[in-house]
Amino acid sequence: MKKAVFPGSFDPITNGHIDVIKRALRLFDQITIGVARRQEKSPIFTLKEREALVKKVTANLKRIQVKAFDGLLVDFVKQEKACTIIRGLRTISDFDYEFQMALTNRKIAPEIETIFLLASEKYAYLSASLAKEIARMGGDLKEFLPEPVIVAVQKKLKKKKGMRSQE
Ligand code: ADP
Repeated sequence: MKKAVFPGSFDPITNGHIDVIKRALRLFDQITIGVARRQEKSPIFTLKEREALVKKVTANLKRIQVKAFDGLLVDFVKQEKACTIIRGLRTISDFDYEFQMALTNRKIAPEIETIFLLASEKYAYLSASLAKEIARMGGDLKEFLPEPVIVAVQKKLKKKKGMRSQE
């Protein structure tokens, strides 16, 4: 059985991520979506919230598991008994970081391979940060985020705004 891990911050999961997941399902029998803690990125959602949202919007997909993880990605991949890491590539600006990460992971665990799926044209410009920015400006998110994620983002931003106005 061919197993892979698709790791990310998923703060929050976007239609671009879902597109990569669906395409990766054509290549692998089983995919674990690894939701990374990544506290250094100051996510707006907690790890549990991000994991729950990913679970919710991938519930209709078979052969998918969703798990939160902390620590080294290659350790998580081994724990999942997978041998491939899937990453998405959007623009050339993704390349430097992804190249560095893939080579570092190869150095630590040569038996694990990283493969890159090119973003679909439709989502090549889309990032979770951009979606959050559009949400802050009150823009339409239908093209970018699944419905339950739109609701969650709006709720979260309202809460944050409320907290700020109390300061
Ligand atoms: P990380 O913090 O690990 O980069 P992200 O949640 O930002 O986590 O992204 C997870 C993976 O999904 C990365 O490989 C990223 O390049 C990819 N990705 C993000 N948005 C898109 C998109 N619109 N199309 C294709 N891949 C994407």
